[in-house]
Amino acid sequence: MKKIFRAPILNPLDENSWRFYRDGALSVDDGVVADIGEFSSVIERAGSDPEVEVLDGVVVPGFVDVHVHWVQHRVRGIFAGELLTWLQEHIWPEEARYADSELAGAAATQFYTDLLRAGTVAGMSYSSPHAEATEVAFRCMRGDWVIGNVLMAVHAPRTLTDFSLHDPDTLRVFMGRIDQAHYALTPRFAPNLTAESLAALGRVAADAGCFIQTHLAESVAELQWVRELFPDAANYTEVYDRAGLLTPKTILGHCIEMCDEEWQCIRDRGSWVAHCPTSNEALGNRRMPLERLRAYGIPFALASDIGGGPSHSMLHVMQRFLVSHRDAGVAVTPQEALYRSTKAGAQCMGRASVGGDLSAGKRADFVLLPRKSAAESIEGWFEDCLRGPAADLEQRPQGTWLRGGHVA
Ligand SMILES: [Zn+2]
Repeated sequence: MKKIFRAPILNPLDENSWRFYRDGALSVDDGVVADIGEFSSVIERAGSDPEVEVLDGVVVPGFVDVHVHWVQHRVRGIFAGELLTWLQEHIWPEEARYADSELAGAAATQFYTDLLRAGTVAGMSYSSPHAEATEVAFRCMRGDWVIGNVLMAVHAPRTLTDFSLHDPDTLRVFMGRIDQAHYALTPRFAPNLTAESLAALGRVAADAGCFIQTHLAESVAELQWVRELFPDAANYTEVYDRAGLLTPKTILGHCIEMCDEEWQCIRDRGSWVAHCPTSNEALGNRRMPLERLRAYGIPFALASDIGGGPSHSMLHVMQRFLVSHRDAGVAVTPQEALYRSTKAGAQCMGRASVGGDLSAGKRADFVLLPRKSAAESIEGWFEDCLRGPAADLEQRPQGTWLRGGHVA
């Protein structure tokens, strides 16, 4: 059954450009975009009497968040502080609570509901170490997600390490129960594993050909700890590289405290960076050197990193992306902010052919943003959509659609 949504539509093309249809139309057939363009052309091509729904707002593709801890959603924005103390004092006790599947179920339901309300339709998330909580996240899933149970063997409370599935045989059995298109092997970060266990995980990932997600070089204190724990490695990135964990399907959160050899290594391996500007600000870490990332041509997408990030709103992430780099004198555009929160995210999580923008053949996953703005250009309008506090931005979308169906 074909349906046409009539509204202005803004569709990202690449990091420098987007296409705006002032009186636009999105033709949706069986959940998939059949046609996009100006209303007059789309209606002509559609043939006999399609159903038309007029939307009061501007349509953009649904957002993709490539690094989020769904088990930290309840405490987002509550705690801050230096990364390692923040983890030990606030985050790990919270994650330990996910041993309770009932709590996990309620939290997962709330997580997906809130993300859809904020316009996020897909992404990559870190679960707690618990197998059951991770399975709950899959069962409750709304939208398209890649999820991994964090693997933690050492330097953490037993309330977490006792549940971790880092033993290769145990992990393989668990992975066998999960659709690999939705699974990411997830070593939490180097300090929670040994060189031997990281190498074993690298072999599991190579056999499965699965996604890998982890954190890299987020803070100065973390970097110092990694130097002490892995004295043989030339740098932090080499710890993962020696274990075979850097592949084109690897997504590395943060990448702030990096030297040239490390950027070169990531580039050579084809790995992705998940750039989390709101989290970096909230935890008092430095700005991710976007200019270095660009110089090496490393692919990246934007992410909220809740609960390090204070909000799951990708509008808030885009706002801070623009402000933080502009404050440092690095040029960034609204076109790039939208692209890194949609199309680049879909590419990062292996969904380039099915999502991330509204071209024909892709899922009709979209968000309606308020049309009202005093701005004269579409760039000005989009930046107006990003203004305001995070709590407002979480509620700013006027609606979210998955496969052409209104869900929030
Ligand atoms: Zn994170």
